[in-house]
Amino acid sequence: MTDPQHPEEGDVRPGCLYVVATPIGNLGDFPPRAQRVLAGVTRIAAEDTRNTGVLLSHFGIHTPLLALHEHNEERQAVAVVDALQRGDSIALVSDAGTPLISDPGFDLVRAARAAGCEVIAVPGACAAIAALSISGLPSDSFVFAGFLPARAGARRERIERLARESRSVIVYEASHRIAECAADLAQLLPERRVLLAREISKRFEQSVLTLARELPDWIAADPNRTRGEFVLVIEGAPQATDAATFDAQSLLRVLLGELPAARAAKVAAALTGRPKRELYDLALRLAPGRDESNG
Ligand code: SAM
Repeated sequence: MTDPQHPEEGDVRPGCLYVVATPIGNLGDFPPRAQRVLAGVTRIAAEDTRNTGVLLSHFGIHTPLLALHEHNEERQAVAVVDALQRGDSIALVSDAGTPLISDPGFDLVRAARAAGCEVIAVPGACAAIAALSISGLPSDSFVFAGFLPARAGARRERIERLARESRSVIVYEASHRIAECAADLAQLLPERRVLLAREISKRFEQSVLTLARELPDWIAADPNRTRGEFVLVIEGAPQATDAATFDAQSLLRVLLGELPAARAAKVAAALTGRPKRELYDLALRLAPGRDESNG
């Protein structure tokens, strides 16, 4: 077995920047190579030296740390690249998961590349990818949209823009905004499926795949469901059937202006390829009371 204090030969080379993923909750998800690299580099650039210090001491790693966060990154990037060019090997870590993914590190990686330094990934946990992998939503092509805006108006605007995206959309959300965000999704994209994953890899981890319109009730059913860290994966807009893209909901709204619910659902099913029954239920929700008898 490899001693984490002593890198295997070839793990760490002088002049290289290592971008190292750390666990997003479960300390068992800290790959041996990541531990060896962190033990073997000259210094570790960390988003929060205290947090990383706790993680490293748990694994018996004593490499010196330097702070690299959003407020000093531009300046620190210059110093780190200098050190790399003098032959130091440096690792970059964030508080959790993969650096640069809604975390600091972009300025440093860009500067290291511009200076011709080698940049090496030491892959591991990433909440976005973990959530996508368990979502049951299309994963062949997706969009990562980071955090939604904190302010209600801007968040709704962003959701409306993302609603046009045909690929699965992954977003991060904070616990104190998850209920508001779910309410917006329920209102703006009621028929889309949404995967909510919280506390991935931790003791109280939980995930649910539901229609957006059902998400607020699911969250409200248990106060624990607003606790912890969250990822949402939102189903993409329906695929184009032909040259034109038919969004079942918009289409039904137009058809319901002219036809009773059952006939509107039949036409919408023919145009979108979605099940007639599902569209009939949707038609009744969009225009309650507009069934055959009074249409
Ligand atoms: N770099 C990290 C990554 O690779 O996933 C993400 C950092 S971002 C500042 C933190 C956000 O990621 C949290 O607010 C939450 O949305 C998501 N997140 C991180 N850990 C998580 C977990 N264990 N379960 C669910 N979401 C998590």
